[in-house]
Amino acid sequence: MDLFETLHTSEHEQVMFCHNKEAGLKAIIAIHNTVLGPALGGLRMWPYKTEQEALDDVLRLSRGMTYKAAVAGLNLGGGKSVIIGDPSKDKSEALFRSFGRFMESMKGRYITAEDVGIDVNDMEYVFHETDNVVGVHQVHGGSGDPSPFTAYGTVQGLKAALQQRFGNEEVGSYSYALQGVGHVGFEMAKLLRNEGAKVFVTDINEESVRRCVDELGCEAVGLDEIYDVDADVFSPSALGGIINMETIPRFKFKVVCGSANNQLATDECGDELERRGIVYAPDYAVNAGGLMNVSIEFEGYNRERAKRMMRTIYYNVSQIFKIAERDGISSWKAADRMAEERITAIGKIKLPFLGNRGHSFPGRSRTGH
Ligand code: NAD
Repeated sequence: MDLFETLHTSEHEQVMFCHNKEAGLKAIIAIHNTVLGPALGGLRMWPYKTEQEALDDVLRLSRGMTYKAAVAGLNLGGGKSVIIGDPSKDKSEALFRSFGRFMESMKGRYITAEDVGIDVNDMEYVFHETDNVVGVHQVHGGSGDPSPFTAYGTVQGLKAALQQRFGNEEVGSYSYALQGVGHVGFEMAKLLRNEGAKVFVTDINEESVRRCVDELGCEAVGLDEIYDVDADVFSPSALGGIINMETIPRFKFKVVCGSANNQLATDECGDELERRGIVYAPDYAVNAGGLMNVSIEFEGYNRERAKRMMRTIYYNVSQIFKIAERDGISSWKAADRMAEERITAIGKIKLPFLGNRGHSFPGRSRTGH
């Protein structure tokens, strides 16, 4: 494979291969784009079968972070990192500290956080070697569990989607089919039930379903049945790829809006939803709450500001629908276009030399939140 040809196509700025024999570290850090700011994206640990598989994953995920941060209106770029290894047996203090030292050498161009296969203890070791970590434990001034914010942000995106489809945003007047009631899904169910909405839930974890039924008054449906539920809104909060050519024909839904990543199996599935008059709120725009939440750590974490920032998701999703109408394109494509337009516009105002950033003013916020 021609690596530079791949980077040329995917438009990555930098890829760093990190190796430490003693610690058994094999990691890749990918920086896709830093026009808007330092590249932020989680660290994933996975027993990739081949190095190519690890590289493909880190390139795809880092690119996705560029788009997510751009649509969220953050001054952040896109990056991601992967450690090749089995999280159940290959972890050690040396491994994560060695990774942290490589990160430190990047002088803040890349900022990391927890992702699949990584827990708060692993991050603690990375944090020993570099400050460029977000989502650290609250005892270190971090933002803690992002899930309630992600759910709250998803509801803001939902309101914009309801407005687009029905001309009002009365969350409680509609019915919902929730796929997955884990960290985010359960919080979503809670917010929807608080508004008096009818909520159908499914999950492979029966205990999670029971909790929604007993504590929140949701109605349980089977794992596959969820696609046939006669509800207004489908809200995926579990897996990716669930909106595909097999499931779409079964939909009676009028809106799709949920927290799961990569909901569309293919871009054509997004077009198919559009063709059927189903409003799709692009996943990476509605689930940006977790990213927004950690971004506040740069200026000193504050829960109230985090919550105010989540509300901008309403504006972002509305803007995506406007671009879709302006250009006659599907919403998934309009989201990408919104990201690209912002990066291009901000890229043009960057001066060649910013000089020393000068003073810092603790307690002040550039975001206005
Ligand atoms: P989670 O693991 O806590 O919850 C996922 C739930 O889905 C679990 O309860 C699991 O049992 C269930 N599930 C798995 N397979 C299923 C299936 N086939 N059918 C029905 N249910 C199934 O994860 P989470 O943190 O709640 O995240 C949910 C989704 O949102 C994921 O796609 C995640 O990538 C995305 N997301 C989460 C956050 C966050 O802040 N946690 C932020 C952005 C995006």
